Amino acid sequence: MREQICKLVKLQNIDNEAAKVQVTLAKCNKKLDQLTAKVASIQSQVAIQKEKRDDLARRQRILEAEVVDVKALRKKSQERLMSIKNAREYKALQREIDDSKRKIDEMETQLVEYMEQVEQAEASLGSLDEELAALEDALAQETKSVNKERSHGQKRLGELDGERLSVSQSVEPDLFARYSLVLRSTGGIAVVPVESQVCKGCNMNIPPQIYNELQRGDELKMCPHCERIIYWQQNEQD
Ligand SMILES: [Zn+2]
Repeated sequence: MREQICKLVKLQNIDNEAAKVQVTLAKCNKKLDQLTAKVASIQSQVAIQKEKRDDLARRQRILEAEVVDVKALRKKSQERLMSIKNAREYKALQREIDDSKRKIDEMETQLVEYMEQVEQAEASLGSLDEELAALEDALAQETKSVNKERSHGQKRLGELDGERLSVSQSVEPDLFARYSLVLRSTGGIAVVPVESQVCKGCNMNIPPQIYNELQRGDELKMCPHCERIIYWQQNEQD
């Protein structure tokens, strides 16, 4: 029985390592997912800023063209003003010219605002571009190292699978079935040592009689509290 229990311990060690590798692999994937999501978020911010800048620039161009038109009209009106003799007509045209001057002032003020806004959009695009480039660099590097870690982990999992198979084949079928059952019901830890009468699976005390039997190592023992397979691990206090 001692030898069989040794094999179960070995099996448990293999399963522990495999579980650790699985956790590492999951972490790798999570890291990549997070970074990829970050890159996507900055990319969409860049797209929004670009759209904003293009829209502003378009409005700016339209307004510039309007200013040119209104200025041309005003010039014509000013020329007409010279030839008007009728006082009432003169006054009306003068008012029209004053109105267009006001309108041009307003439009030019608006143009300055557009230009400032375009500048701001350009500036924030610039810093977003920088951020994006840095993130893309980080993503590329991270992808490289994660892929390395991942292939290393997958390779190790393959080795562990092989080791597990060979160890499990040398365990009595009943015992192996028991191990598998406990492994499932305990979430991965089926075999635990008992040190100084304490089960390392649940940290509870093992009754003296079971502890004595356990030390003899003649038969398979289960922890009466957590129902894991236990084995005696001698330490200095014993
Ligand atoms: Zn226990």
